[in-house]
Amino acid sequence: MVTVKFGSNRQITFGGNEFAVLAGPCAVESRDQFTAAAQGVKKAGASMLRGGIHKMRTNPDSFQGLGNGAFSFINEVKNEVGLPFVSEITDARQVGDMLAVVDMFQVGSRNMYNYSLLKELGRTQTPVLLKRGFSATVEEWLLAADYIVKGGNENVVLCERGVRTFEPTTRNTLDLNSVAYVKAHSSFPVIVDPSHGTGRPELIKPLSLAAAALGADGIMVEVHPNPKQSLSDAFQALSFEQFDDIMVDVEKVLSALGRKRLSN
Ligand code: PEP
Ligand code: MN
Repeated sequence: MVTVKFGSNRQITFGGNEFAVLAGPCAVESRDQFTAAAQGVKKAGASMLRGGIHKMRTNPDSFQGLGNGAFSFINEVKNEVGLPFVSEITDARQVGDMLAVVDMFQVGSRNMYNYSLLKELGRTQTPVLLKRGFSATVEEWLLAADYIVKGGNENVVLCERGVRTFEPTTRNTLDLNSVAYVKAHSSFPVIVDPSHGTGRPELIKPLSLAAAALGADGIMVEVHPNPKQSLSDAFQALSFEQFDDIMVDVEKVLSALGRKRLSN
């Protein structure tokens, strides 16, 4: 089990009987956008807030994230809604600055093989959400997690976010086999990211329900107050209404299986 501590004495735990829902925008774009997103996902019952500060974009001309410009308001927003915060670290040199705002580091798909970053995160005690590389085998993904653990940080949660296949209909092919495999053969908690896994808002709900049904420890989804105006991944961003609807049905699947959503 992995515990994420936040605030003066609050915490949430991954890998128990409870199902975590991590939600928020692809990228933190402004204080207003982040505040609205945080309030919306909190109201729907999210367990944790997400939002990229440093974005790994395929196109160098695309929005790269606010970077350190976001640091002035993140803590205020987090404390106002009372949710822990996860954000991607893209470079080992960011550890010190990011520790001031994150409760959990995210390692993105493109950095799963960045062993110097993994070693650096192994030197902290802050939980790490390790996304699967989009061309990584399950074995490579588990070995990447071991880099962090062997460095001294056992607080690793895995995240299946889809792999690249011959199929162009969806952005990636969400590999739910890997989630069932990890649950059966490793002790790491594992969550599912159906936003990047499908790249299609209409598929995020069915895959979220599948994640709950198959025993994943949670999901991470991208939600934006104005999906069409998203500065990154607008095509897959969920509205608050769509997110609420997913939360209601996830609850039903979980309760049928004697599980619960992680409360906040
Ligand atoms: C993200 O979750 O913000 C992200 C960039 O996803 P991935 O690393 O899976 O592409
Ligand atoms: Mn995204």
